Amino acid sequence: MGRTGILVSALLGILVLAGAIGGAYLYSRLSASLADTETSLQASEEQSARLSGELKEAKDYIARLETALSSERNKNSVFENQISKISGTVGVLEKLAKTDPELLAKYSKVFFLNENYSPPALSPIPDEYLYQKDRILTLHKSVEPHLEDMLSAAKEDGITLQIISAYRSFDTQEALKNNYRVTYGSGANAFSADQGYSEHQLGTTVDITTPEVGATFSGFDTTDAYKWLTENAWRYGFVLSYPKNNAYYQYEPWHWRFVGEELARDLHREEKYFYDLDQREIDEYLADIFD
Ligand SMILES: [Zn+2]
Repeated sequence: MGRTGILVSALLGILVLAGAIGGAYLYSRLSASLADTETSLQASEEQSARLSGELKEAKDYIARLETALSSERNKNSVFENQISKISGTVGVLEKLAKTDPELLAKYSKVFFLNENYSPPALSPIPDEYLYQKDRILTLHKSVEPHLEDMLSAAKEDGITLQIISAYRSFDTQEALKNNYRVTYGSGANAFSADQGYSEHQLGTTVDITTPEVGATFSGFDTTDAYKWLTENAWRYGFVLSYPKNNAYYQYEPWHWRFVGEELARDLHREEKYFYDLDQREIDEYLADIFD
C-alpha cells in the first residue's frame, strides 16, 4: 500500500465515523420529535374526548329544553283552543240572541207566524227592480242587500227579474185574502198563501216575475228568468219554498225565500228543499243566516 492508499483509507475512516455520528444524532432527534408528536396526539385525543363529552351534554340539555318548550306550547294551545271554543260559543249565542228563530221556521197549514210579528227593520227595494214602479215594496233590512245582489247579478246576465210582492204585514195579508175570497169564494184558501203568507210576513220572501209573464205568473217556470233563479238564487241565500210536486203546499215557482247563503248552498248541493229538512237540522244554520 502506498502513501496515497493510506491517506484514502484514513479519509474513508473519518467519513464513516462522521456518518455514524451524524446518523446517531439524527436518529435521536427524530425519536424525540416522534415522542413529542405522540404526546401531543394523546393530548388532543383527550381534549377531543372531553369536547365530545361536553357536546353530548349540551345536546341533552337542548333536547330537554325542547321537550319542556313543546310541552308548554301544547299546554298553551290546549288553553287557546279552550278560549277560542268558549268565545266561539259566546259568539254563536250572541248571534242567536239577536236572530229571530222565526226567520228559519217551517210554516204549514197548522203552524203560522204570530200575527203580531213584524221584522225589526225594513228596507225599500229600489224602483228599478219593481214590477210596478209606483209601489213601495220593502224587505227585512238584513235580507234586502242579498236580494239586490241577486237582482243585479241577474241583470248582468241579461235576465230581468221584477219583484211583484215582498214584505206583507198581517193586515195586508188579511185584506188580500178577503179580496181573493170575494172573487173566488172559499177556494181562496187553496192559493192565497196560508203558508206562503207567513214567509211574506217575515220580510224574507219575494214573489218574482219577469216582463214576458207579468202579474199572472202564468208559465213563469218556463222562462229564462226562472231557469236563472234555479241555477243561481242559492248563491245569494234564496231558495224556492214550494217546488213542483211538493207535499207541503201548492207549486209556486215565483215564490223565493231567503234562508242564508250557507243553508241555501247546502240545499243546492244535496238537491233538497227547505221543507224537506227537519226543523232541528235547519236551526243549526240560524246563527249564521246573515253571514
Ligand atoms: Zn209568495
